[in-house]
Amino acid sequence: MPRRNLLLALGSSLGAFFSGAASAEAASKAQDPAWQLGEADWKKRLSPAAYKVLRQEGTERPFSSPLNGEKRPGTFVCAGCALPLFSSKAKYESGTGWPSFWQPLPKGIATKLDFKLIVPRTEYHCSRCGGHQGHVFDDGPKPSGKRYCNNGVALNFKPG
Ligand SMILES: [Zn+2]
Repeated sequence: MPRRNLLLALGSSLGAFFSGAASAEAASKAQDPAWQLGEADWKKRLSPAAYKVLRQEGTERPFSSPLNGEKRPGTFVCAGCALPLFSSKAKYESGTGWPSFWQPLPKGIATKLDFKLIVPRTEYHCSRCGGHQGHVFDDGPKPSGKRYCNNGVALNFKPG
């Protein structure tokens, strides 16, 4: 098993151990009351893969999203509620296998600390519906130095 997968497996089993009954992670609460939908409603709106990421803070397989190779100008919007989250101008090739950005659009996302792995990470989610998008790291390119590592299945692309 590659080291990274081993760490991920270790992290998630530890996370499950510590969080006990809450191991079925819930997404962050929607800030907009109109988007505080029940889980049954989300299941109806989303594909199973998008539901797992957006509503249960899952992580898609790297290199699995067609948005990795998306290079047209446009906007990446939340797959849950269509709020614009990233401009194509801030997208770059990080080599990680997940769509990566160095800057979100204003008011697009909110963050929280995530202790699922041994080292705390900064989770971020859609500021409107609370759907999980990814994690932000400090090894991105200039000018921000940030890497927003996003699950492609949690986004839709709007060219233009
Ligand atoms: Zn959203």
